[in-house]
Amino acid sequence: MKNKKGMLLAVGIGPGTPELLTIQARRALETAEVIVGYRLYVRQISDIIAGQEVITTGMRGEVERCRRAIEAAAAGRTVAVVSSGDAGIYGMAGLLLELLEGEYRDNDLDLEVIPGITAASMAASVLGAPLMNDFVVLSLSDLMTPREKIQQRLQAVMPADLVCVLYNPQSRRRTSLFPEVVKQVIAERGPDTVVGLVKNAGRPDQEKWLGKVVDIPLSFIDMLTVVVVGNSTTDIVNGRMLSRRGYQLTGNDENR
Ligand code: SAH
Repeated sequence: MKNKKGMLLAVGIGPGTPELLTIQARRALETAEVIVGYRLYVRQISDIIAGQEVITTGMRGEVERCRRAIEAAAAGRTVAVVSSGDAGIYGMAGLLLELLEGEYRDNDLDLEVIPGITAASMAASVLGAPLMNDFVVLSLSDLMTPREKIQQRLQAVMPADLVCVLYNPQSRRRTSLFPEVVKQVIAERGPDTVVGLVKNAGRPDQEKWLGKVVDIPLSFIDMLTVVVVGNSTTDIVNGRMLSRRGYQLTGNDENR
């Protein structure tokens, strides 16, 4: 008898707590025979694990993790590869596809991508409503994108008056790019530009900071922080970050 065909699921598990996991993602994890992920993320879904085989690897083990997942799927199993937030936003979905079209192209495996709440939307909701108009997402990690390219992109974005969400803003090892970005924001958008920081968004130890770019507490920012840089429409209103969409509101608007 031929083995049953395996299946790969790239599952976004959201920012942290179980309430922020979609029902579809939960079902995928429950039906999986094997769950593969970075240790910290697998811990986030420990309440769902009941009998599935779990394969965890360390922080930098992405390629190894995906290879092991594909090999388990090639052996006929249903395998969920977990990413925090959304699986297709700096997550594992792309790497799985790259491997499937490359070294594993003869395996004829299906991949289903299951989305999740990404750090940008979680952080935005913690801060208020900063993403009400056009915005851009950039990662400051130079592990895979050369630093010059990140700098080029920042230079293109700053004058465009787009709200910017910055992922991977700084780590213990990488501390020089973020202060450069702060200088750039002050030069291009002015010292009063509103910035929001959210650390561990959606997790029990969530922390936020909201203020002007000149007052940013650099030591607050780590790899578990997402940064939202406002544009010319962004203010602090009742302690919340708001980018105005452009509605023409007056005190006695008859269309209200
Ligand atoms: N796939 C993830 C992003 C992975 S990149 C997603 O869609 O959210 C990792 C970066 O995402 C971190 O360095 C941090 O900037 C951001 N991040 C992820 N989860 C976060 C959280 N709960 N709170 C704040 N930032 C988070």
